[in-house]
Amino acid sequence: MVTNSSSPSNRQSKASEPVGGSPAGRLLAAPADLERWVAACDGLPDRVTADSTTFESALSLREATYRLALDRVLARPFDPGSLEIVNAMAAGPVPTVELGDAGLRMSGDLRAVLSHIARSGIVVLADADAHLKECGRAGCTRVYLDRSRGARRTWCGMDECGNRVKAAAYRARRRASATAEGRGA
Ligand SMILES: [Zn+2]
Repeated sequence: MVTNSSSPSNRQSKASEPVGGSPAGRLLAAPADLERWVAACDGLPDRVTADSTTFESALSLREATYRLALDRVLARPFDPGSLEIVNAMAAGPVPTVELGDAGLRMSGDLRAVLSHIARSGIVVLADADAHLKECGRAGCTRVYLDRSRGARRTWCGMDECGNRVKAAAYRARRRASATAEGRGA
């Protein structure tokens, strides 16, 4: 298969690919994955129970948020269907927060957690100064919020994309210099 990563049509298909098609999308394959993800997130409840309904809601919230973030990145109007999903989710019940010596403790069921996530997403999406970007690595479709000083981040994350791009560039330089040496000898 021949691909041309610089062609406009390819760029289009990359941009319109649903987040579920990305490697990140496959991380949430079943309700148990969602329970683990919530437990692992700082600032979310330690334990929630996901059933098929809340799991489907989480997936549609993720797809809709991704679409809206992409709309922001591409400076186009928000997709009405995705707005409806995120706004409806944000209108639901919210988790309880408590302050203690250990900091903030949040409790609530998964529906409340999704509502909280939708609200947080709205705050970012409504912020004209938020630097939303699409990852610079070809093949990665993630959109991320660049909070770095001067907003100079290029990749969604160093572990998954930044280091891969840097390692590939290093290998390319090594190959180029090896070829140059080969010619010189
Ligand atoms: Zn990436």
